[in-house]
Amino acid sequence: MNLNHDILHDDWDREHLWHPYTSTIDPLPTYKVDGAEGALIRLADGRELIDGMSSWWCAIHGYNHPVINRAVEEQLSKMSHVMFGGLTHEPAIELGKMLLEVAPPSMNNIFYADSGSVAVEVAMKMAVQAAIARSGSHRKTNFVTIRSGYHGDTWNAMSVCDPVTGMHGAFGSALPIRFFVGQPSVKFGEEWNPATIEELEKTVKEHRDELAALILEPIVQGAGGMYFYHPQYLREARRICDENGIYLIFDEIATGFWRTGKMFAWEHAGVEPDIMCIGKGLTAGYLTMSAVMTNREVADTISRGEAGVLMHGPTFMGNPLACAIAVASLRLLNSQDMAARVAHIEAQLRRLLQPAAELDCVKEVRVLGSIGVVELKDPVNMAEFQRHCVEAGVWIRPFGRLAYVMPPYVITDSQLERLTTEMIRILSLPQCLTKKH
Ligand code: PMP
Repeated sequence: MNLNHDILHDDWDREHLWHPYTSTIDPLPTYKVDGAEGALIRLADGRELIDGMSSWWCAIHGYNHPVINRAVEEQLSKMSHVMFGGLTHEPAIELGKMLLEVAPPSMNNIFYADSGSVAVEVAMKMAVQAAIARSGSHRKTNFVTIRSGYHGDTWNAMSVCDPVTGMHGAFGSALPIRFFVGQPSVKFGEEWNPATIEELEKTVKEHRDELAALILEPIVQGAGGMYFYHPQYLREARRICDENGIYLIFDEIATGFWRTGKMFAWEHAGVEPDIMCIGKGLTAGYLTMSAVMTNREVADTISRGEAGVLMHGPTFMGNPLACAIAVASLRLLNSQDMAARVAHIEAQLRRLLQPAAELDCVKEVRVLGSIGVVELKDPVNMAEFQRHCVEAGVWIRPFGRLAYVMPPYVITDSQLERLTTEMIRILSLPQCLTKKH
């Protein structure tokens, strides 16, 4: 079926609206959506697409969920927002209690923030304030991280993204300089090799007097490469942080809420961070909100420090609508056997993506939880690939050499089969790849 340009693409939008990571001179096409339900996105011409992206990890229960819709309506009839300075409300309290039940046991204090990137900024600010207060040294303000990470688009979050594939090149000396060590080379499921932790250990030991914290995405590196690494790396990282007096921050913004087969990815390793960021699936794709959780020691050390308080307090902190949505979403998760649900999706993804490994253009296929990745030898031609996807009734948004799916958990077996079958078929079309050689 040919696509109807006049209905699906909007010239005004193309001329005036900035879309993520695309040029204003020659923007990639955007497709107009007028509804979404379950695992389906409905385009303006009535065509339905099976969603493989959960709108970038968020829409875990699918779209237009009646239970979450009801929670929004109920909260809306009471209040959509009040300031969190000096005021509090039941949705914030209830959400906090529910989060502490599922968080690492040592977590005790919760800071509600606006987005994933802001959560990372807050976590980094917490680490610096706590590190200075704990050590009495104003030098302990820097960060160490692992290559191929992604932590968001704001200033400090950007500074700990991968220095090559991230955004460092575009901002040059404007970004603070961090310490980077190699990506954990032992993959998830492979045999652990102790030598692979040496670089981190050496770097932390050498720079411990300048370091506030180590920040990383546990187990799954998302937008930096869709890469899954060995849980032992986290156990060793915890030991190294403790031995050298630096904090450990886990960015669980993408990995949280069952995406990797556990409620949070730290559970694969059984080690707890000092500070943990969550976002995305927290509000099930309804509103932007994130949270930063810390143990008592971090929170109280900040409070005993020079400022006496954490120096952050956004306008929309603890937004009641967002909190009510998160409560409804967590209740939905708690009412199902999510481990079994995600294990089922994982088994299906392994089986369905297997044929991709046979393609000449494919470097590796990997699956963890409800994340299925096809790493290619050459970058995807995004416009061409997406046009074929839309024609075939599926929605997949690759980046670089990575085509991947992480569908809403409500996707049916037959929808998932169609999604993956079409992805593999389209990847095998030569015009959908940009040959470098
Ligand atoms: N951390 C990780 C691991 C992420 O995947 C993302 C978003 N892709 C962020 C932080 C930033 O979140 P946001 O886009 O909500 O600012």
